[in-house]
Amino acid sequence: MSKYIATRAIRGANALVTEADVMLNKALAEKGADTPVSFPNTAYYLPTILGMTGKSIEKIGDLKAVMDYTRGLLHPVPAGKHWTPYLGETLDSGMATLLAAETIEAIRFIYGLQPESVSDDFILSGGTSYGGANGHGHLNGPIDDIQLRSWGIQLVDGRMPGFAAIVGCAKNNATAVKIVRELQRRNILTFLSGNVNGRSIIHQLQEEGVELGYNTFTVPFGTDTISAIYALGFATRSALTFGGMKPGMSREILLYNKERVFAFVLALGEVDDLKYAAAAGAINFGFPVIADTVIPEILPTGITTYEHVVSMPFDAIDGKDDLEKAERLVQKCIEIRGVKVKVSNVDVPVPYGSAFEGEVVRKADLRVEFGGKHARCYEYLHMAKLDDVTDGKIEVIGPDFSQVAAQGYMDMGIVIKVAGRQMQQDFEPVLERQVHYFVNGASGIQHVGQRDIAWIRISNAAADKGFSLESFGKILHARFHEDFGAIVDKVQVTIVTDPALHAEWLEKARAAYDFRNKRLADLTDDKVDEFYSCTLCQSFAPNHVCVVSPERLGLCGAYNWLDCKASFSINPTGPNQPIKLGKLIDDRKGYWQGTNDYAALGSHGVVQEVSMYSIMENPMTACGCFECIVMLIPEANGVMVLSREDTAMTPAGMTFSTLAGIAGGGMQTPGVMGVGKFYLISPKFISSDGGFKRIVWMSSVLKNSMADEFKAVCIREGDPDFMEKIADDRSATTVDELLAWLEAHNHPAMAMEPMF
Ligand code: SF4
Ligand code: ZN
Repeated sequence: MSKYIATRAIRGANALVTEADVMLNKALAEKGADTPVSFPNTAYYLPTILGMTGKSIEKIGDLKAVMDYTRGLLHPVPAGKHWTPYLGETLDSGMATLLAAETIEAIRFIYGLQPESVSDDFILSGGTSYGGANGHGHLNGPIDDIQLRSWGIQLVDGRMPGFAAIVGCAKNNATAVKIVRELQRRNILTFLSGNVNGRSIIHQLQEEGVELGYNTFTVPFGTDTISAIYALGFATRSALTFGGMKPGMSREILLYNKERVFAFVLALGEVDDLKYAAAAGAINFGFPVIADTVIPEILPTGITTYEHVVSMPFDAIDGKDDLEKAERLVQKCIEIRGVKVKVSNVDVPVPYGSAFEGEVVRKADLRVEFGGKHARCYEYLHMAKLDDVTDGKIEVIGPDFSQVAAQGYMDMGIVIKVAGRQMQQDFEPVLERQVHYFVNGASGIQHVGQRDIAWIRISNAAADKGFSLESFGKILHARFHEDFGAIVDKVQVTIVTDPALHAEWLEKARAAYDFRNKRLADLTDDKVDEFYSCTLCQSFAPNHVCVVSPERLGLCGAYNWLDCKASFSINPTGPNQPIKLGKLIDDRKGYWQGTNDYAALGSHGVVQEVSMYSIMENPMTACGCFECIVMLIPEANGVMVLSREDTAMTPAGMTFSTLAGIAGGGMQTPGVMGVGKFYLISPKFISSDGGFKRIVWMSSVLKNSMADEFKAVCIREGDPDFMEKIADDRSATTVDELLAWLEAHNHPAMAMEPMF
């Protein structure tokens, strides 16, 4: 243990705790102990404090106890030469720093100083806006729960291998951009904070026009070091959200992060006392710290997987210029943390990686679009015999977009022909759906929709770099081989813009979509003799198992029965295993010998039985990434449903964020279930409890977003106007209001048999 680091971390911690004390006293005097404190859009109060101490902070006054505890973690700054600082003292100081930093940020929220405001031309992409329109004019501040959950599935399936907390300022703007691009290319989530002499990497990226925000995996927290606390709050919440940890289980939460969350801190530029102190905080979580300046190193003792603190002076890095040095620096960070990274080798003239999937191409940046209001774009993937496919052949039939005016549009069809010994017709839609993700991975390209309502935009920047129609083919060819190589041996792509051919293939595509729709409608639970397990989320929620049937998809919405079947073909020892149904025990509630046996096995004994069609008896467990929550409202003899995007208050007196804490964690909770959106419209939706007609309340966001699908269900259920009988957040946010509404609208649940 370096005495130098210990000294500076302890000194930094003492100073920050004093600052937090001063701020707290001021806030107590000016605002009063009863003034509420919170971070926006989270059910986890002040998450680091909640996780580490078990205290739910709701008022300024609650922070007094936190600061008392925090002061107790401090140690005197080493003075005499006989004093040997040791790791424990440094780690304690690091923890004190984190608790003090979160206290400071919470108080700043009260004073309107968080999230930090910046110049008005700053646009935050996809960030939640706390008051400001579209996130203009301020940095992100803490990540909200909705975003955490929607990243969840990417974190568990490995698309997002980990996160980097960058603190400080890079040598120059070009280096800053290069570092971020290198991280994006590997789909590593990047959190930005801190400065060196007032200049932050956030300024550098802004000046270079780099799009920041949730959509691009690069989240600017704040331009001071203190805002880096949001990264640790995120880490703490992932343990609470996905790992089933409870508040106050500090040791377990820290270990969880060390073992499952692949994160590291990259300190750019001079490291001051506060940064040493914050770094010591990160080391508690098992996150190593890499600095691009000369600092003493700390070698492994078992807290982090590898080194604790590594010095890689930027100018001394082997590389012909700053960009190459930046690339090596990122490479080194990844090696040190042992992050498993997969980089796609796609031969296109723009950066490529999942970090670009959420990028938006705005009208002002638009070169040309396919589909949308004025044109038709479709994508169609079909299988063919091995001899009929020429692997790697990419044809563009018809004109390219060079003749189209700026911001113009044209028709396009993407026809993909695949062949492989393991390929099955059932996999066509599974593969075709990937086009969305594959195409979106290119920087400057936006893809929305699927089938014959696809809509693709190419930005000016991408077009200027030479992105062409042929590029779509290159992406698809490379990615299908890379991700589906086990079932696909050959891939050929035709991009059709020629009007006659476009119409001809559109007709063929539509016939195939119809065929698939019928096939899906026919594919019911009683027509198959095996379901599939999904244990992908066990990397985060160790005892959770999804049992996926044709009529009940995984709760994340990302895996249906066909997806699981394809995944099993690709990776026979992977997370999706067939579950032979075996003896039928109860067809109404959905019990089979096979599903029960598997549930017990897969949950490591936590769950003994699982009912496929009931919310009241042995309901399926949930990890953290469900799309919707279904919850019993006992007084109404029915259930309410709301989705991840909802922030509305429910008659249960809780919002989605709070309810999610009850639903997740891999435990069976009768009356509460996390489900995928499309399970709501399945005939098997809580069918043993009365089905769709049990829904007494649904958030308006969900009602609107799936209006057509719900309409069809109402017709199927023999009550075409049933949606109008379901209350929502506009009509009822308390049980009393809900009951009055149900009464007034003659909702059928009132007359149904009691749910329990
Ligand atoms: Fe996780 Fe279930 Fe989705 Fe699999 S199906 S990824 S276990 S939520
Ligand atoms: Zn999950």
